[in-house]
Amino acid sequence: MTIETKILCSNRAVRHLEPLNARHTFGPAAVVFLGPPGAGKGTQARHVANEYRFPHISTGDVFRTHVAKKTALGLQSAASMRRGMLVPDEVVCGMLMEHIRDLGSTGCLILDGFPRSLAQAKWLDHFLHTRTGESHEFPREAPVAIQINIGRDQLLRRLAGRRSCPSCGRLYNLHFQPPRNPEICDYQGAELAMRPDDSESVVCERLMVHDQNTLPVTEYYRRKGRLLEIEGNDTVNAVRAAIAVGLESVFAMQQHKRHRGLGI
Ligand SMILES: [Zn+2]
Repeated sequence: MTIETKILCSNRAVRHLEPLNARHTFGPAAVVFLGPPGAGKGTQARHVANEYRFPHISTGDVFRTHVAKKTALGLQSAASMRRGMLVPDEVVCGMLMEHIRDLGSTGCLILDGFPRSLAQAKWLDHFLHTRTGESHEFPREAPVAIQINIGRDQLLRRLAGRRSCPSCGRLYNLHFQPPRNPEICDYQGAELAMRPDDSESVVCERLMVHDQNTLPVTEYYRRKGRLLEIEGNDTVNAVRAAIAVGLESVFAMQQHKRHRGLGI
């Protein structure tokens, strides 16, 4: 399967889209969201999951649940994080495997925050393939990746412009959602604060680490013809519409393939 890459956000491309039905028995086993921190992939992943009624899995949430419940995998990952190390692939994959099995859903999984390494991407393909082979009445296709592309300058503006009110917790962005008075909360007049990990140098470091880890993941999906690239330097709604157009084409293609296979 080769899907059309590079879908630009253009109003001409935006049309009314009927939400796909979760009961559709064709389509990819998972849609994974890729993109640098600040690209809005969490927001977009939740949109897609809600709109199409597919199960949404945020790896961050799965992580926190395991750590809070003190499961064996949770304790292992907490130990790695305490030592400032990356959580090993087998621990991350183990948590995800348990979570997916507990979900028991045959719908297309919406993954956000996974895979973060080439090994994880390969593991996901293998796991979903054996899973659909074993237990699913309707086997699904291999996962598809949606990569939200956004320029570094734009990301720096987004991330370094974030502020929060230490008193009421409201969030602002100096560029996109500025307070009425510079650096002052609209509600209680408290001076806004920046999270230490939103400073420009820390953001640059985070983006670099992200690129190092996930470029091989992007390349993997590209080589397999399963990468959908979306221009992310636009409003949330425009990006959302571009993603919907891209996903519709993937589902339409796979439905066509299924029908051909069934001789319909
Ligand atoms: Zn406030």
